[in-house]
Amino acid sequence: MNIALIAHDKKKADIVELCKKFESVLMQHNLYATGTTGLHIMNETNLKVQRMKSGPLGGDQEIGALVANQKIDVVVFLRDPLTPQPHEPDINALLRLCDVHNVALATNVNTAEKIIQSIKKH
Ligand code: PGA
Repeated sequence: MNIALIAHDKKKADIVELCKKFESVLMQHNLYATGTTGLHIMNETNLKVQRMKSGPLGGDQEIGALVANQKIDVVVFLRDPLTPQPHEPDINALLRLCDVHNVALATNVNTAEKIIQSIKKH
């Protein structure tokens, strides 16, 4: 499967923890991430990630383009719901495209864990 991983700054530690917890599962899939999220994941785990631009510089839109072209099966987007983001329109566009293309989307750790656990069983 092709899995996109994105986390806002206050959620970076959470996505790294998630990646560590499910490293053996995620290792078997193609991983994509926005720039800084991908850097954290690669520095702190053994996972290889294809990095896009940083989210505020267009990375969310790059992931969105992959979603629009049916290149992504799962999006894990750990948003920070308590901090305004300068690229809010890009974030909303990506979430919208996931719904347009019926792509599994997790915006919090609990949902992400459930989706990854279901991938593990296949
Ligand atoms: P980042 O982007 O991984 O480059 O921090 C994430 C985002 O803010 O959408």
